[in-house]
Amino acid sequence: MTTQKIFYEDSYRAVFKAKVISCEVHEAGYQLRLNQTAFYPEGGGQPTDRGWIDGAKVSHVFIKEDIIYHSVDRHFKEGEEVEGVIDFERRLDLMQQHSGEHIVSGLIKKLYGYQNVGFHLSETYMTADLSGELTKEEIKHVEYLANEAIFKNIKVTAALYHQEEIKDRDYRSKIAIEGAIRLVSIQDYDVCACCGTHVKTTGEIGSIKIVGADKHKGGMRLTVLCGRRALQDSVKKQEAITRVSQLLSAKPTLVAEEVEKLLETLAGLKQKLNARTDELFELKASAYTIQEEKVLCVIEEDLSTEEIRKLCMAMTKRTDKTCLVLTPEAEGVKYALGAQSTDIRVLCKELNKAFNGRGGGAKEICQGTLTGTSREIIQRIQNQ
Ligand SMILES: [Zn+2]
Repeated sequence: MTTQKIFYEDSYRAVFKAKVISCEVHEAGYQLRLNQTAFYPEGGGQPTDRGWIDGAKVSHVFIKEDIIYHSVDRHFKEGEEVEGVIDFERRLDLMQQHSGEHIVSGLIKKLYGYQNVGFHLSETYMTADLSGELTKEEIKHVEYLANEAIFKNIKVTAALYHQEEIKDRDYRSKIAIEGAIRLVSIQDYDVCACCGTHVKTTGEIGSIKIVGADKHKGGMRLTVLCGRRALQDSVKKQEAITRVSQLLSAKPTLVAEEVEKLLETLAGLKQKLNARTDELFELKASAYTIQEEKVLCVIEEDLSTEEIRKLCMAMTKRTDKTCLVLTPEAEGVKYALGAQSTDIRVLCKELNKAFNGRGGGAKEICQGTLTGTSREIIQRIQNQ
């Protein structure tokens, strides 16, 4: 005997009575079978419902050969009368996303001819994979019209048809279906073969926001938020924009222009700083003196990898000797090693080996990191 599906008769029924057909022990608890249920089993891209049956938690619901199984955490007796309560806030959220997806996919097919070839509905977002790419303007247009469909508050209907009855009808379908086909229709917006649950009227979707559009497998993946999810996203973004607007002392609608100006200023400052750093390194390099030591060694705090290299190169221009620049870090030391006339890679290899380091480079200059202290490294290099 198959399970009677209350969620198809009424997708808003959150509480129902049923009779236990069987309850079998399973790895993670029990698998409960009822004569009828309002719990939607995972399928068609829509996640499982959750809730309670006589107080026992329902963590997962699935369908196999038209029989629905509820994963519960306690045993039920065969023939027992039970009351099921689905987590309706969660179900409504899933229905809002699912119906919203139908409107978006239907509009895209109608306007641009692309199919929805993949639908994923998770606890936090929903994605629709399209067979082609849309421009930014087209996405905006789809979002606008999808919200128009919400304002019109039109009916969402579902009905079962025999294949023959609808063979000439144009409807969306991801897979070839055998037997009767359940079509979900949203007036002029969409007709789609679907086994999921939907809101009764489009107004209940609340709002539709397309928050992501990425190239995906020759087409495009849209990330869509509906209902409360769209509102929560908007609240978060509003908070972020308000913060940035306060930091920049700019109107919220003008923060992008202000950030562009800041980035331009920053690029100019970086350029200036680089020129000054080069000058400073030239001055430093000319001030270092060397007596009888084999290697000109200097320790400089807080230099970046790029700066270490620059300073070392400025030094090697002024002496025939090997030059070493060290910058101590939280763990170990960053180094640059250079020379005008010898292949410095040989010494670099020796240092790496002696101080468990890594790095390398060209004949004239090498860079890397070493473990050990600056003093130990200098001692070793001067005495080799
Ligand atoms: Zn669907």
